Amino acid sequence: MKKHIAILKGDGIGPEIVDQALLVLNKVAEKFGHEFTYIEVAIGGCSIDKYGVPITEEGMNACKQADSVLLGAVGGPKWDGVDPSIRPEKALLAVRKELGLFANLRPTKLFSQLADASPLKQSIVGNGIDLMIVRELTGGIYFGKRRTESVDGEKVATDEMTYSEHEIERIGRVAFESARKRDKRLASVDKANVLDSSRLWRAVMHRLAEEYPDVEYSDILVDNTAMQLIKNPSQFDVIVTENMFGDILSDEASMLTGSIGMMPSASLSSTTLGMYESIHGSAPDIAGMDLANPIGTIMSAAMMLRYSFDMAEEADAIECAVNAVLDDGYRTADIWKEGMKKVGCKEMGAAVAARL
Ligand code: NAD
Repeated sequence: MKKHIAILKGDGIGPEIVDQALLVLNKVAEKFGHEFTYIEVAIGGCSIDKYGVPITEEGMNACKQADSVLLGAVGGPKWDGVDPSIRPEKALLAVRKELGLFANLRPTKLFSQLADASPLKQSIVGNGIDLMIVRELTGGIYFGKRRTESVDGEKVATDEMTYSEHEIERIGRVAFESARKRDKRLASVDKANVLDSSRLWRAVMHRLAEEYPDVEYSDILVDNTAMQLIKNPSQFDVIVTENMFGDILSDEASMLTGSIGMMPSASLSSTTLGMYESIHGSAPDIAGMDLANPIGTIMSAAMMLRYSFDMAEEADAIECAVNAVLDDGYRTADIWKEGMKKVGCKEMGAAVAARL
């Protein structure tokens, strides 16, 4: 197969971790007889420095024309003071919007080799954590109408949370389909005891549940979900929720594994075009020092193969290689402990590629 990939390395550790994912992708291409071609697009602070905007129109078009997009990370203290209209993360929101990336998939897995990196007790994580959060990404309160006005001599700010049936249905379908490919259990998170948008959410999910009788469906309130993730995370398989709840819960879930550098994510559209990135930021404190953990980005590349290119075997091969490297004791500084082999970003990437 021939696939064309837009590469958005971005800022901070972005270039270092993406280079290791490219090493792994090239090895996959060689081993499985595929041809991957790449176009590099500047995004975030480096684009602001070069072009005065966090992503150019040409860059955006290159993303739209690609078969998928692989992203490092954007931002850093150098650009904290720039005009809000051109902040680095504006480019991320623009890419999500232009590419119609409405579904964010975040698998949260506690690798057995790293079980003691979890901040939770062994008695809780001993059963393993392997869950997937499916977050709606282009609707809800982050995209609703907002205003700040003066009322009776004081300022009043309002943010509207709006969801329509079609927005809920399309994210619901992604979640039910994801559950079908996993352990066939789906928990839909809402606040239906208070919010109208949640009551509509729940009604649409119930309608969909009838179409997926093979998936064990349940409703759970967002506050209870926050507690259950800490109390008994292994009860979850797939969780689906709206934009803001998903933003918060997915960060909480990722912390259960204790290793932010390991976690991949996929943002999907209604076509096979998706954007893949690790969940962490640009880590300016360790940028350029060969200290970053590239596994989150390498696992994001695996998700790209699985979800955008339908290459399940190739994705499995990457995940097995990562497991083998961890079994062999390779650890970047963020996950290192006594007795393990401490390696840098490059050596970790090379070790994964070598085990493919
Ligand atoms: P961060 O995720 O960049 O870093 C938090 C901590 O985790 C740091 O100590 C960092 O060294 C460590 N870390 C992160 N990724 C790592 C990796 N792969 N290997 C080893 N250690 C790793 O979060 P932050 O410090 O809050 O943000 C830094 C910048 O990144 C900010 O400008 C922020 O706006 C931006 N950011 C970008 C994205 C994105 O591009 N999607 C997401 C979040 C934050």
